[in-house]
Amino acid sequence: MSDSMFRDLRGRDMAVDLGTANTLVYVRGRGIVLNEPSVVAVNVKTGQPLAVGLEAKRMIGRTPSYIQAIRPLKDGVIADFEICEKMLRYFIHRVHARRWVKPRMVICVPSGITGVERRAVQEAAEFAGARKAHIIEEPMAAAIGAGLPVQEPTGNMIVDIGGGTTEVAVISLGGIVASQSVRVAGDELDDAIIQYIKKEYSLALGERTAEEVKITLGSAWALEEELTAEIRGRDLVTGLPKTIITSTEEIREAIEEPVASIVDAVKVTLDKTPPELAADIMEGGIVLAGGGALLLGLPERLQAETGMPIRVCANPLQAVAIGSGQALEEIDSIGDILFSSPSH
Ligand code: ADP
Ligand code: MG
Repeated sequence: MSDSMFRDLRGRDMAVDLGTANTLVYVRGRGIVLNEPSVVAVNVKTGQPLAVGLEAKRMIGRTPSYIQAIRPLKDGVIADFEICEKMLRYFIHRVHARRWVKPRMVICVPSGITGVERRAVQEAAEFAGARKAHIIEEPMAAAIGAGLPVQEPTGNMIVDIGGGTTEVAVISLGGIVASQSVRVAGDELDDAIIQYIKKEYSLALGERTAEEVKITLGSAWALEEELTAEIRGRDLVTGLPKTIITSTEEIREAIEEPVASIVDAVKVTLDKTPPELAADIMEGGIVLAGGGALLLGLPERLQAETGMPIRVCANPLQAVAIGSGQALEEIDSIGDILFSSPSH
């Protein structure tokens, strides 16, 4: 095979970050080419998907009864395998126009999923056109994407806070030494806001509004300047639209319980970390990735509770895709060492 032909084939290999909130696709030699919410809108009468990704996410809470906006990976596990497979296939086909060249694929999945689900994802990818699908553990991919020296004999701690799960891991010499995966992450914060506003104001908020409130007003630590803002929902007493005024203090109180669970997951992992590696982390700090890392005041909160230096990685929403992509770029030289076996 000529060099140019080989390069052409190589260019088709891809890495997929199958996240509970967002799916990203990285194509070898090109970088991230797709970044869409992990949502599928389905016609429940026919079972046919009507929209996938951003278009489907816009429909959440706005669909007539025969359309359902489904998140196939809710709560850190594959809630709907069939839809998950359809979504994966749709995304792969969108970036992989030439079907006769079967790409190799690296797929990053939440580490909370079972061995059976892992194999199923692998099969779905192969069914969708992959020649071979390698599975990479999410915290490993996040750590690589955050630029941590995972192959060195030094302790690296990564905390990846996604939509459905928070993954905490200590990595040294290319392996995970201690880890913790909890099903508390961005979605739980949204839910906590919905519950709080319902209880305090008898106001019903949609999922998407709650997420916006979290992003604009949510925090895990007192802010230098606390803000107030209006939020709109449906009055549960009158059934009519209503606007209330809330504050960053109030939203912080609303999300306190899930935030505390995330902080606990970090503490528990630190507690399980061998002393030499803990000393390395004391020096290098804990690195945050995933969309949840953008919650205001989270670094301050974690620093206060763990005494460790905390830093948010450069592209928290893309770290896993970048890391999976990097593993893909190096797949020929390093082989399979970063990938986990399906039975793991
Ligand atoms: P996943 O890997 O599970 O797909 P992501 O890493 O893509 O998840 O992160 C998505 C989560 O991050 C969502 O819950 C989203 O609401 C949350 N998020 C995104 N931006 C922010 C922000 N600025 N502040 C707080 N949470 C955020
Ligand atoms: Mg993720």
